[in-house]
Amino acid sequence: MSRLFDVRPNPHPKSEAERAAILADPGFGLHFSDHMAVAIWNPEEGWHDRQVRPYGPFQLDPAAAVLHYAQEIFEGLKAYRHANDSIWLFRPDKNADRFTKSAERLALPVLPHEDFLASIETLVVTDQAWVPGGGESNLYIRPFMFASETFLGVRPAKTVTYACIAGPAGAYFSHGVQPVDIWVSSQYVRAAPGGTGAAKTGGNYASSLIAQQEAYDKGCDQVLFLDGAEKRWVEELGGMNIYLVTSDGELITPSLEGTILEGVTRDSVLTLASEHGLQPVERRISIDELLDGIRSGKITEMFACGTAAVINPVGSLVTEQGRVVVNDGASGRYTDELRRALLDVQYGRVEDTHGWMHKV
Ligand code: PMP
Repeated sequence: MSRLFDVRPNPHPKSEAERAAILADPGFGLHFSDHMAVAIWNPEEGWHDRQVRPYGPFQLDPAAAVLHYAQEIFEGLKAYRHANDSIWLFRPDKNADRFTKSAERLALPVLPHEDFLASIETLVVTDQAWVPGGGESNLYIRPFMFASETFLGVRPAKTVTYACIAGPAGAYFSHGVQPVDIWVSSQYVRAAPGGTGAAKTGGNYASSLIAQQEAYDKGCDQVLFLDGAEKRWVEELGGMNIYLVTSDGELITPSLEGTILEGVTRDSVLTLASEHGLQPVERRISIDELLDGIRSGKITEMFACGTAAVINPVGSLVTEQGRVVVNDGASGRYTDELRRALLDVQYGRVEDTHGWMHKV
């Protein structure tokens, strides 16, 4: 394990009984481990004060820039406990790359890859008792960086805080893996050319919430966003990328045009496609092509993918004009196969032929 981060043990960790109760039913995003990694940046010293210290609140001045101008980025990845009790991360190098790209877009300082990885490894080793075993549970890891300088004024901050927290996670959707209904937002867009759509920054999510609320109001679970320029091209969900399977064996996902998030799961599915007899295709897809394809049966399956939910079938798309049901509202063969294949690699049940797993 790297020694870049100094460990200051938590004198008051949760008791074994409290932890066991949480691990038995973790939910998602509700509970956090006993420690967090932190590092500070300023122009004079660069990155410094790297610590893994007791989990707890930050002291932030009310004029801290992030609270006003949202100069902030984050990441999400998981640690998996394998049958022999070893603990593994899935493609953390991809998250490190994306964190760098997000930092550049948000005019935040770049955290070196080795610091990113060391913060995660040190935190996970320190809190290894928090990595659940069995089932499809895991430790969700959330690295983030924000403008912690006390100042009001629009310019890149000169004091920046990096931190990483982690918490046990069970299934992402409360009703388990079942086809989800998707609201197609015709009013709101998530990103525009030249904007921040390809960065993992809080503002993208803040601006998506009204559409997410609209989805709930329509009885849907998630929102599908169209492009910001023409409202014609299918982009992604509020927190997941999308895929379509066609009757002639193509596995299609919207191409990266700078406005959608380059998902680690998306990239992994592209690689897995050919192993399952599918031809991976990255291209633009219009909403009309999508809806017509589902109606005609040319599109046989649709699924969403991301770190939190892995792969989740889409049961229907709902627009102002009504509902279009995918594959009779059931999950499909390839959706199930790809989900299983990804989970088998992540939980160490098959050989990791792509070199995706990183032992902590
Ligand atoms: N799109 C958005 C907007 C997301 O928030 C996420 C989750 N990070 C994804 C796609 C999927 O990315 P990943 O597979 O890296 O989790």
